[in-house]
Amino acid sequence: MVIAIDGPAGSGKSTTAKYVAEKLGFIHINTGAMYRGIALKCIQDDINMENSSQLNHLLAHTKFKFEKEGGSTLFMDGVDISAELASVQVTNFVSQVSAISEVREKLVQYQRDMADGLDVVLEGRDIGTVVFPNAEHKFFLVADIHERARRRKKEMEANGEVVSLEELTSEMEERDRKDTTRRHSPLKKAEDAVKIDTTGLSIEEQVNHIVEIVNKTIK
Ligand code: C5P
Repeated sequence: MVIAIDGPAGSGKSTTAKYVAEKLGFIHINTGAMYRGIALKCIQDDINMENSSQLNHLLAHTKFKFEKEGGSTLFMDGVDISAELASVQVTNFVSQVSAISEVREKLVQYQRDMADGLDVVLEGRDIGTVVFPNAEHKFFLVADIHERARRRKKEMEANGEVVSLEELTSEMEERDRKDTTRRHSPLKKAEDAVKIDTTGLSIEEQVNHIVEIVNKTIK
């Protein structure tokens, strides 16, 4: 069974997907982390995004695996890169990388292969629309922009990073703008997705809401 969870930055997808997967005993695939991984590698290897042979070489030689803590930690080429993925540099660059069609084609195929025949919760921007348009369950999480920025600030503070709320709000608005207006697989709600506004909801409430809907179709 495939459960697709899509939505903008800071809408609560990652934490919700992680706990939904844990409760149901499903695999969790955080597709945003994979796009972030490619962005990180482009920065580290100083890849020129306009140079398709450089980019295709990078894409052909990158391996992903989710391991540890119920599969929520991303290993790229055998290395745990989770600490680097949330950096400001990667965050500000990732939307540019994820708008490139070669990157999308490669990662979409990778995500389909990873999920093949398994019970999975995939979270991202295009899961219900492109990666698994026939997913058994689709959810689209939204939340007020100020709430989303506050959540991200808290997360970053827990990692010892200090960024102002204003800066985070405009960074998120800019990333949402890029993600919703890009040509290939823009962020959008699938027509048949259940919309959940997570503003004011606790993680537990979001998770239980989804698990209840899914359980009705399992039992
Ligand atoms: O979910 P997260 O905020 O980590 O995603 C980082 C970025 O990766 C998004 O802003 C978007 O540009 C890209 N992304 C995507 N398609 C997905 C998941 C993420 O384009 N399925």
